[in-house]
Amino acid sequence: MDRPGGRSLSLGAVTGDDRRGDGLTRDDLFGAVDGAQALRLLQDGNRRFATGHPLGLPADTAATRRALAERGQFPFAVIVGCSDSRVPPEIVFDLGLGQLFVVRTAGNVADAFVLGSVEFAVTQLGARLVVVLGHHLCGAVAGAIEGGDHGPNLRAIVAEIQPSLDAARLTDDVVTNCEDANIRHTLAKLKGSDVLADLAATGAVALIGAKYDVVTGEVDFWV
Ligand SMILES: [Zn+2]
Repeated sequence: MDRPGGRSLSLGAVTGDDRRGDGLTRDDLFGAVDGAQALRLLQDGNRRFATGHPLGLPADTAATRRALAERGQFPFAVIVGCSDSRVPPEIVFDLGLGQLFVVRTAGNVADAFVLGSVEFAVTQLGARLVVVLGHHLCGAVAGAIEGGDHGPNLRAIVAEIQPSLDAARLTDDVVTNCEDANIRHTLAKLKGSDVLADLAATGAVALIGAKYDVVTGEVDFWV
């Protein structure tokens, strides 16, 4: 079945077949979609979502599920996003099973668990694009700005946002600039990973920031 711009795109890039995994080996699928192609797939999917024309889940979800179980997963992109219920990556990029490797925390902050998860996705699963996806109206950022103490665990999240807040306080739009700085901060932490930095230096992996507008549904990719 040919569905231009449709689902199972990582397979489509290899065979033109819509059924990811059929007849393909790990070598066929690992890293089959490069960073530039992955970015276009995310842009296309977000455009479908934001304009109200998502493809939704394909009719052959069961076949895709079986193929992924048999062949393994080879997601083409990693999303490091906020846990905010309004920003689910698979939905805002109109994608499905096996296509995105998603790591979410409140405020899209990154600790060792997040960094290790991203490293796993690129070295073991072949993802070639990593996107730090922040968003406007971020509650974690708002919480950091408001202050107050909600215990040691939330304090750890606020501490990650604090450097961005300190810089943004000097500007005339504290909220927006704190959100943006926080995306850049997490991106810098990813680039500080030796594993990711080495892969980025060779061009094998691209790391970018992006910001989602919870009103329009549009993602602004920082490229
Ligand atoms: Zn958020």
